[in-house]
Amino acid sequence: MSTSTTVGLKAGESLERSDKWNLRGACRGMEAAVFYPDPAIAEDTARALAVCASCDVREACRKHALAHREFVGIWGGTTGSERRRLFRRGQSV
Ligand code: SF4
Repeated sequence: MSTSTTVGLKAGESLERSDKWNLRGACRGMEAAVFYPDPAIAEDTARALAVCASCDVREACRKHALAHREFVGIWGGTTGSERRRLFRRGQSV
């Protein structure tokens, strides 16, 4: 049995009935570990950012991460250090 975590629907949830932005992310169904790359491995960070670049809910994701002070991992097409800088400047987008 796999112990990996995926991004997306929980058992029994219906995408069509949900208005949750995170269920509409381009990362839905992917392993969450993809979005927590080792910052020292640029290719892994670039891979996650490329997924975000095609995501329709990127802005909502970034705002959520800033509102919840998520400074680890890739959220809304930004790295943790980028969000920390945005947070310090008081920017939400
Ligand atoms: S912006 Fe990136 S991390 Fe956020 S929902 Fe979209 S693909 Fe997932």
